[in-house]
Amino acid sequence: MNKNILLTITILIFIIIPKYSYGADSELIYLDVKVSPNYSKSDYITLSSDEGFNLYNEDDLQRVFLYIPEDIIYIGSDYNGDIIIFDEKNDEIITLPDDGSVVIGSGHSNESIIKVDKNKYRDYIKFLSIGNYINVINHIELEHYLYGVVPKEMGPSFHLEALKAQSIIARSYALANINSHISEGYNFCDTTHCQAYGAYDNENLITNQAVDETYGQYITYNGNIISANYHSNSGGITEDSGNAWSLSLPYLSSVEDVFSNNAPNSSWSFTLSVSDIQSKLAASGIEVGQINNIEILETTEANRVLSLKIDGSKGESTLTGSQLRSLLGSMNLKSTWFTVNKEGGYQNSKAYVISGKSLFPMEIDLSNIYIKDSGKDIIVNRSNVNRARSMDRTVPLEATYSSAPTTFVFNGRGYGHGVGMSQYGASEMANQGYNYEDIITHYYQGVDILNVGR
Ligand SMILES: [Zn+2]
Repeated sequence: MNKNILLTITILIFIIIPKYSYGADSELIYLDVKVSPNYSKSDYITLSSDEGFNLYNEDDLQRVFLYIPEDIIYIGSDYNGDIIIFDEKNDEIITLPDDGSVVIGSGHSNESIIKVDKNKYRDYIKFLSIGNYINVINHIELEHYLYGVVPKEMGPSFHLEALKAQSIIARSYALANINSHISEGYNFCDTTHCQAYGAYDNENLITNQAVDETYGQYITYNGNIISANYHSNSGGITEDSGNAWSLSLPYLSSVEDVFSNNAPNSSWSFTLSVSDIQSKLAASGIEVGQINNIEILETTEANRVLSLKIDGSKGESTLTGSQLRSLLGSMNLKSTWFTVNKEGGYQNSKAYVISGKSLFPMEIDLSNIYIKDSGKDIIVNRSNVNRARSMDRTVPLEATYSSAPTTFVFNGRGYGHGVGMSQYGASEMANQGYNYEDIITHYYQGVDILNVGR
């Protein structure tokens, strides 16, 4: 290891991370991850450990200040709202500070695993008091956090090289976004808002191996650890971050991605009724009446919809592709790379005529009827004829037959925002023999992989 590089990354980490703490090994980085579910102060939280519990001050994990020789303890509140540890006889053991500055580990000397109700967590647990709620925080070393992230974000069925790329990406993303929830007193939540984190019970031998074999590796651009965004499937071309989030980053620019072409969700179709679209729009305060048309106005060079117009009987509304995706559900409209077609209502090629002998209209294809004018046959279309005439009656077509569509069909490609690594593309690259460095440098332009590991 080049000492200058180590010094640089150490300084870098200090600059980037205002809030983290070190454990016994000064190279370890600890994170605070808020885990689900949310508890109110009237709940009891059960902690279990085979070896009793060690209590530490968060900034001194080398010194146990209290050992509790119990297999099970309970966390609850008293009438003052303080957070208290009780034993099985419901006797108070100690009152905890409500800022999470005391952390609880198991009494096991090598590996601390604590069960909180039904879920097991590595390292330490602490509690933050917020109003009437108690946030359960897993105070966990970065590499252990990745053990819980990689299987949730990619899954053990992927190729080891793809999992190694995912590990480095998740490690880089974590450090670059370390302040995501700092105003709430912790670093990350355990959902895809940050990165999905499944803790100890979701760990897997091969995903842990991928984390271990890439220990200390980060993606950098011009010496800075990057926010390595990723998504499920690009559909064939990734998107510029500037188009997805209006922050254009050189290493998150669009790249051709044939590796995603035949993977799951490379193409998809989603059909929704007009009434369902109307109610989803109305839920967000968008009222356009009966929807007649959805028109794509502008797309990016990577085919994603930038803006579209919804025409209705009471007005029109212009939305971004992302807004429509979030209104209709991001698991329905899987990406903003889509076209839209309307179905139902009558087609422009059809006319309805009433003969005078019958009240029932007959449907005739416009291409088969003509207007006779001074010996010429004029082709009938909607711009020169909008009424059907007969000997004894005149019926406006629109009065009887609505032209409004009944459904809209969205045909699209890819799954997710399309920025950075396509996970299914990475899988295909690995299956074709590319390694994790090839995968990372394909999806992130102009980056280096920095190794500050063992
Ligand atoms: Zn979050």
